[in-house]
Amino acid sequence: MSHPRLDLDADVVTLTAQLVDIASVSLDEKAIADAVEAALSPLPHLTVTRRGHTVVARTDLGRAERVVIAGHLDTVPLNDNLPHRREQTPDGELLHGLGTCDMKGGDAVILKLAAELAEPNRDVTFILYEAEEIEAEHNGLRKLSLSDPDLLAADFAILMEPSNAAVEAGCQGTLRLEVRTHGERAHSARSWRGVNAIHAAGDVLARLAAYEARRPVIDGLEYHEGLNAVFIAGGVAGNVVPDACVVTVNHRFAPDRTEAEAEAFVREFFAGYDVELVDSAPGALPGLGVPAAAAFVEAVGGRVAPKFGWTDVARFSALGIPAVNFGPGDPMYAHKQDEFVPAADIVRCEQQLRSWLGAPATPYDEERP
Ligand SMILES: [Zn+2]
Repeated sequence: MSHPRLDLDADVVTLTAQLVDIASVSLDEKAIADAVEAALSPLPHLTVTRRGHTVVARTDLGRAERVVIAGHLDTVPLNDNLPHRREQTPDGELLHGLGTCDMKGGDAVILKLAAELAEPNRDVTFILYEAEEIEAEHNGLRKLSLSDPDLLAADFAILMEPSNAAVEAGCQGTLRLEVRTHGERAHSARSWRGVNAIHAAGDVLARLAAYEARRPVIDGLEYHEGLNAVFIAGGVAGNVVPDACVVTVNHRFAPDRTEAEAEAFVREFFAGYDVELVDSAPGALPGLGVPAAAAFVEAVGGRVAPKFGWTDVARFSALGIPAVNFGPGDPMYAHKQDEFVPAADIVRCEQQLRSWLGAPATPYDEERP
C-alpha cells in the first residue's frame, strides 16, 4: 500500500471509512500509524510523539484537568471484509467492514476531536496505539506505560472501545488455573489395580456446577463473577486407566478483589486439589467518584453499565487513573466477519465528547434531546 492519506476535514463517518480501508492487522500497523502521524503533526495546537506504531498527540494549555482519550489502531485478521461498504437501512446508515466496530469509529472520533478542538476546556492526551488484539507483550499502551509513563499521566481516561455509545465503567479481572487430579496407571482389563484420574475429575466438575456467583455492587454497578471449566485434558491410551487429568478453570472476578484475593478464593474452592495459576490480569474499579469521571458521565446522559470483559481500562487503573469505555458500535459484533457500526453512534459519540470538551459556557444539558 502506498502512503494512504487521512482527510481530517471529512465528516467523522467518512473518516471512519478511510481508516477502515487502511488494513491494519495487529503487527502490521505501519501504514495506518504513518497516516495518523502525518495528519496530526502539522496541527500547531498539538505536540505529537511517535513510539513504534503508537501516536500520542497532546494539548498543553495548562488546564486544571487532563484526560486521556485512547483507541487501538489494529484489527483482528482479514476475513474477506475489506474495503468498507456503506448501507442505508430504515433505521439509518450502517458502515460495514473489518474494524468498523472494533474500533475505527472510535479512532475517527479521536482524530476529529484532536484536529478541531484547539482550545478544549480540559487538556487532552489523544492516544492511537498498536497491537491491542494480541498478546499483551505487544500492546502499545503497555509499552507506553513502560517507556513514557509521563505521556499517560491524566486525571481520567476514556477508552473508545465499542460500548453502544454508552459508558461502561471498570472491568472484571481474569485468572486461569489448572486443577490437577492424580491416579495410578493400570491396564484397563485389570482396572482395579489402578486409580482413575479422569473419574477423580468428576468431583472438580461437580464443585463447578454447584458454584454460586458473587454479584457485588460497586459504585452503584452490579458485577457478575464467573467460574468455569474451559479445557479438560487427560488420557493415555484406549486400554489404560489414566493417572493424570487437568481441568483448566477461568475465573472472572469483580474489581473489588485483587488478583491475590481471587486466587485465594479459587484455591479455597478447590481445597484438597493440586491447583496451579497459569495467568491473571487485575480488574479495574469504576472510579466514578473522581470529579472528571462524574462530570463526563453527567455530560453523556448519566447512564453507566458495568464492564464484564477485560479491557485496557485496567492498565489505567493500575496507574491510578480512573477509566471508562465509551465508543460507537455494539461489542457483540467485534471480531465478527460481518462487523458494522451505525453511523449515528459515531456521530453521537463525537457530539457528546465535543460538548464535554467544549466551552464551559455551553452546558450540554440544554442540547440534550
Ligand atoms: Zn477493541
